[in-house]
Amino acid sequence: MINVRDLLNNTDLKATPQRLAILEEIHKAGHIDLETIYRNISERFPSVSLATVYKNIHTLRDKGIIKELAIKGAKPKYEIAAQKPHHHLICKVCGEVIDVEIDTSFLKDQLKDLKDFEISNCDIYCYGVCSKCKNKSDS
Ligand SMILES: [Zn+2]
Ligand SMILES: [Zn+2]
Repeated sequence: MINVRDLLNNTDLKATPQRLAILEEIHKAGHIDLETIYRNISERFPSVSLATVYKNIHTLRDKGIIKELAIKGAKPKYEIAAQKPHHHLICKVCGEVIDVEIDTSFLKDQLKDLKDFEISNCDIYCYGVCSKCKNKSDS
């Protein structure tokens, strides 16, 4: 369990109640889109506007505290950036985003050979059907 306040410690960002609430929502959900964050936050802060949440999320993203996941055919989702490197599996049926830690060193080797390309980092998004949805359609 991380303390979301710690995430702001090494930045010049103030730990405002809204920012902490946004980080808590992201941490709790794992991956979450802006509208859902806003909906959950507005229960605690009825006066907060979507524009404020939007601005805060983009500040947190630009500071590298949260990461924006560009998911094809869906709204971007956000996750806490300070995590073990991982990639994402996206279920095309239910929209679930699943973290997966896979070794991508084979890609590094292949691309070095094929294109003499040096990978510094890569984000893999795999689209398919999750086990829950697969089991549902099987039965
Ligand atoms: Zn699914
Ligand atoms: Zn993730």
